[in-house]
Amino acid sequence: MADRRLDDYDRKRRGSRTDEPAGRSGSGSGAAPRFVTQRHDASSLHFDLRLEIDGVLVSWAVPKGPSVDPSDKRLAHRTEDHPLDYADYEGRIEEGYGAGTVIVWDTGTYENLTESDGEPVEADEALERGHLKVDLHGDKLTGAFALTHTTMGGDEANWMLVKVDDHGADRRRRPTSTQNESVLSGRTNADLEAK
Ligand code: MN
Repeated sequence: MADRRLDDYDRKRRGSRTDEPAGRSGSGSGAAPRFVTQRHDASSLHFDLRLEIDGVLVSWAVPKGPSVDPSDKRLAHRTEDHPLDYADYEGRIEEGYGAGTVIVWDTGTYENLTESDGEPVEADEALERGHLKVDLHGDKLTGAFALTHTTMGGDEANWMLVKVDDHGADRRRRPTSTQNESVLSGRTNADLEAK
């Protein structure tokens, strides 16, 4: 299904040597929406956080990766929406946009916890308002995270990602430096580089 929301996704990859999924939106499974955090070793290493919202993966590149310490604020740069199929993508992008290796660092379902004046706010509406609170049911990431649009740095794409202080918070654990393997395949980015 052609989808204008994935035009940016397709345009950026035109002429690239890549085995990434085609830019098709989906309808989801009807079950709880998915999230994925991919470890992307490109021109600079970063983590891509993606949330399934309305048939696409709404995406942010997090240069330092998500932290489970509530006192850490992590810059999250909003990037183009990705197709749902991308949630399972691992591979090596030979050349062009995003050239490098991608693994599924963490994935699972999530629950939208966003509220305004005690009333639940739908995820697409929360995105537009610039504040989203999601409860991640992952392997490395669990509990609530807040994503807040910020005008810091004068860049419209800048958001902040902060762990909410709950059962999934941990001030000592550093999963982005100590757990580098894929939750799907057990592979690391280096394994893909060497293939
Ligand atoms: Mn990326």
